[in-house]
Amino acid sequence: MSLFVRMLPGPLVKVFARPYVAGASLEEALAVVDKGLEKKLFSTLDLLWEDIHRQEEVDVVVEVYHRMIAACAERPQETRPTVSLKPSSYTTRPLNRGEGMDAAGSREAILAFSEEARQKGVGLTIDMEDHHWTEWTLRLLEELWAGGGYHVGAVLQTRLERTRDDLARIPPEARVRLVIGIYNESPQIATTDKAEMKRRMLDYAGILLKKGCFVEFATHDEPVIRRFLEEIVPETGVDASRFEVQMLYGVPRGKIQQQLVRGELGGVGPVRVRLYVPFATDWSLATAYCKRRLLENPQMASAVLKNLGHALLGKK
Ligand SMILES: Cc1cc2nc3c(=O)[nH]c(=O)nc-3n(C[C@H](O)[C@H](O)[C@H](O)COP(=O)(O)OP(=O)(O)OC[C@H]3O[C@@H](n4cnc5c(N)ncnc54)[C@H](O)[C@@H]3O)c2cc1C
Repeated sequence: MSLFVRMLPGPLVKVFARPYVAGASLEEALAVVDKGLEKKLFSTLDLLWEDIHRQEEVDVVVEVYHRMIAACAERPQETRPTVSLKPSSYTTRPLNRGEGMDAAGSREAILAFSEEARQKGVGLTIDMEDHHWTEWTLRLLEELWAGGGYHVGAVLQTRLERTRDDLARIPPEARVRLVIGIYNESPQIATTDKAEMKRRMLDYAGILLKKGCFVEFATHDEPVIRRFLEEIVPETGVDASRFEVQMLYGVPRGKIQQQLVRGELGGVGPVRVRLYVPFATDWSLATAYCKRRLLENPQMASAVLKNLGHALLGKK
């Protein structure tokens, strides 16, 4: 199935990955944000736009991000969405494209978003892309925090070996999204053992909470969420205002999300849940994100394939 997903042409990716994408415009994504709020779910917005080659594309992305920040700022502060940034989408020279690439323009774009978001009271999170970006992103976070950009959070990937050391670089009180990491990294720099990634998630969450960070525990793994709430949080002595659980829009986790917001898990009271809500103004540029999601869950692709087959054969 994973070969099937990798070979899928763009237009078919759209069919399979539709559940993960919140719409084709900022307005549609904001409607999803509002629907989430009806169930007490918060959001972070993201524009899917990867594999950029032309400056005009960068200009469009930057313009949409300014609109996203402005739209978030118009929402009530208590339920205001945050905005997630992908450094590779603000440059025609992304570091992951190899030799000689310098991410020209990404730093400047993020500094500008940061300033605008600071003035408007909107939280930003810089997504963590593959290992080419790790050092670049952490340096930028340090620079932003040194200049008072306390509204900007970062992401740490537990699969990377370097992350244990990177924990010490995160400013105390910063907002940190902890993830296992979606990019397949080489065994020279990352563990390939999923259980170990999960153990590290719990371990690092404890370290970050103790140092005063706000932890965004981003996983769909219910047993790991339970262990976070039942073991790590009580051990650190923090209350539920110091963390939240994050999940991706489209991953079916409605039951545990409601248990969390109602305070029915872990004995720590109601826990804030935030969904990562990506939208795509151009599907062809959302393909990479969608393939990564499908590869995480090949059952989704096989279910859609089965339905498609049944439809073609006229079966119910
Ligand atoms: C809010 C959020 C933001 C993220 N930001 C980043 C980032 O900046 N950088 C980065 O590298 N990674 C990011 N990720 C991805 C993350 O690194 C993992 O790849 C992803 O969350 C899957 O890991 P898991 O912890 O849920 O565990 P898994 O063990 O992969 O999954 C746990 C359970 O959830 C199910 N599941 C997982 N993914 C899906 C899916 N797509 N569809 C249906 N079921 C699924 C699995 O089938 C399994 O039952 C983010 C994830 C989230 C939730």
